[in-house]
Amino acid sequence: MATTIEATTELLLIGGDKRPSSDGGMFEDRDPSTGDTLARVAKATAADVDRAVAAARAALESKEWGAIAPAERGRILLRIAAKIRERHEELSELESRDNGKPLRQARTDMQVAARYFEFYGGVADKLMGETIPLGPGFLDYTLREPIGVSAQIVPWNYPIQIGARGVAPALATGCTVVLKPSSNAPLTALRLGEIALECGLPAGVLNVVAGTGEGAGDALVRHEGIDQLTFTGSVDVGTSIAALAARNAIPVVLELGGKSPNIVFADADLELATQTVANSIFQNAGQTCSAGSRLLVERKAHDEVVERLTERARSMRLGPGIEDPDMGPVISAAQRDKVEAYIALGASEGGRVVAGGGRPTDPRLQGGSFLEPTLIDRVRNDMRIAQEEVFGPVLAIIPFDDPAEAVTLANRTRYGLVAAVWSRDINKALSLASQIKAGQVFVNTYGAGGGVELPFGGYKKSGYGREKGLEALRSYTQLKNVCIKYA
Ligand code: NAD
Repeated sequence: MATTIEATTELLLIGGDKRPSSDGGMFEDRDPSTGDTLARVAKATAADVDRAVAAARAALESKEWGAIAPAERGRILLRIAAKIRERHEELSELESRDNGKPLRQARTDMQVAARYFEFYGGVADKLMGETIPLGPGFLDYTLREPIGVSAQIVPWNYPIQIGARGVAPALATGCTVVLKPSSNAPLTALRLGEIALECGLPAGVLNVVAGTGEGAGDALVRHEGIDQLTFTGSVDVGTSIAALAARNAIPVVLELGGKSPNIVFADADLELATQTVANSIFQNAGQTCSAGSRLLVERKAHDEVVERLTERARSMRLGPGIEDPDMGPVISAAQRDKVEAYIALGASEGGRVVAGGGRPTDPRLQGGSFLEPTLIDRVRNDMRIAQEEVFGPVLAIIPFDDPAEAVTLANRTRYGLVAAVWSRDINKALSLASQIKAGQVFVNTYGAGGGVELPFGGYKKSGYGREKGLEALRSYTQLKNVCIKYA
């Protein structure tokens, strides 16, 4: 059984100082594997958010950050990457306990977080503008200037990875940041703030305000001192935030949910495909925005694929994240209840639960919010279980007969984040890739080792704007055009 550890006390990071919240309020952060309290965390108020935004503004205009050479900005980011790698094991354990994810997944998350700082550290001094040929007597050029104070609101499923995904490109461009992690798993984001300071990031450039969505999150979104907003989370919260941001005329990046399909043809490498399909839904207990939560499988291969998946699901070892099982708990009892309700709904709509479907009976796991890896077969695409994001370890399996039907099924949801096509026929695979309405399409793979270099974001209700890769830099810069007339 996982050993219990003593709960820590965590403070906010504002203007380079660790502080309690302005009214002394705290919230409990629990380990979802055991239900134990992991930390008592200062709960940021609107006054704390106000201070954090003021600190970020002052840092933006300071000579230590505002006038620093881009190459030096890059060096600081590279030092942060190195420090994350140095403290990799301690951070991985913290993330595993805070979120419940298997330790090896948390270790991967640390590598990806480090890689964001490395990637964007390398581009800090390569943010080029262009010259525009206006003809004799004119010199016209463009500059990419930092957009200003970036507010970043992140969810609990990949706290440091998603935190780094937004913070690193923002810092690379010269912006300053107020980061609000989720109250369900705020600890590694707070550590990231401390690490950045240790690595020479000037005070106030990165502020971390842990707190609730309705409290600190809402105050941050409404704050007139922010210049840009990056939000990762649910569609409902994202769209309401975008409406508030519109009142201040600031741009927003929305990374929302998905109902991403793996499309498996009978001519695919079925062993590789089923292994990857299982990973894509059971990784992080299905709590991944880009989880492969729908399996569209060619009818000819249906029985073989379902049999392989069932074997895999039934053999998975559940346990506390820190013991590095195949799958940990979901984030909370409330999330488990929500996922269970979806499983019951899927069955009542006519789906057949062929693996999992409930809580594990192991007495050791009763304190945590565990759920079995679940497969629901005979799903029709119009069922709610095929249309709505469950955010748990539940795969909806839908057969199809030909490529045209596969495309129709793939596209017929309100989401469009990721899709994958599995086939040995490259013509078929490329034809599908061109017809699928999603921000990212994989062929014979799913994910690409974190995909730091690859632009990522949604079509349709999965959001707008792009994170990752060079594309993300657009969100944190504004373009200035300078036009000069000379004799
Ligand atoms: P959520 O929308 O409830 O919360 C996300 C963040 O927003 C949290 O920090 C929360 O405290 C904050 N928040 C909540 N209400 C707020 C409000 N009114 N004002 C300001 N901030 C508020 O989502 P969640 O439950 O934490 O995460 C799950 C959702 O996130 C899923 O829908 C999932 O698909 C999505 N997600 C998307 C991506 C992506 O990159 N596309 C990545 C991870 C998660």
